[in-house]
Amino acid sequence: MSIITKSRFPVMVSNWKMNLLSSDVKEYVSKLKFHGERFCKICNIIVCPPFTSLHIAVEEFRNSGFFVGAQNMNENQSGAYTGEISCCQLKDLGVSHVLIGHSERREIYGETDSVVNKKISTALSAKMQPIICVGESLVHFEMGTMFDVISLQVKTALFGLNASEVSRLIIAYEPIWAIGTGQSASSEYAEKICSLIRDVVCNLFDKRVSDNIVILYGGSTTEKTASALFAQRNIDGFLMGGVTLSPNAFASILDVSLSHNVKVNVQDID
Ligand code: PEP
Repeated sequence: MSIITKSRFPVMVSNWKMNLLSSDVKEYVSKLKFHGERFCKICNIIVCPPFTSLHIAVEEFRNSGFFVGAQNMNENQSGAYTGEISCCQLKDLGVSHVLIGHSERREIYGETDSVVNKKISTALSAKMQPIICVGESLVHFEMGTMFDVISLQVKTALFGLNASEVSRLIIAYEPIWAIGTGQSASSEYAEKICSLIRDVVCNLFDKRVSDNIVILYGGSTTEKTASALFAQRNIDGFLMGGVTLSPNAFASILDVSLSHNVKVNVQDID
């Protein structure tokens, strides 16, 4: 068995997107608990169902080691925003995490970097842990301008936050061309960008903050690609979509990534 040393506590996130019904949750949770609960000791596992299934997911995961996250929230605390959901309402359900700035929200619903920044502050003020998604489009990938795009996304997302607030964030690097396409980024490429993101955080704050921030990779992760990606120094886990609609496949990815002898050496910056 090989040994992977991680200086940050790993995080694995499942994004169901607009899939599954509330009647599917019980069976999903029971299968995931059966196959994956042992990994909760060495990793934070966060499941993000649609809003309509959050309540039941919180109930089914209660007293397990799993966390429940939402896929989106409104940037305001409350008010006249018909059809929207606030972080206080999510918190009220027992939801602990929230995805912010997923590329599908940015691309389809026009979510801007400044809205992302506002959502992060609002989530932090409600004591929710944001998972901030950044990543370049295929056009920027092909033009080689991914560094500029991602740096700007990270800088704008973190604007106005202090070191203690940044220590509560998770950043997910998700190249848009890899999401849902079956074409995962290579582990070398993903590592290069995750390391760049850590450098951006270091320049904005300091090495201690950047050494502690959790950075995930997302985009068509599979049982085949997970092991090499997770072995990278700057990749602390995954944000996954399609593959995690099957609890068994999700558990297999946990297994492939975490069945190494993962040594975690975490230092808290607060
Ligand atoms: C995602 O939805 O963030 C994602 C990474 O999806 P997939 O794993 O299906 O590419």
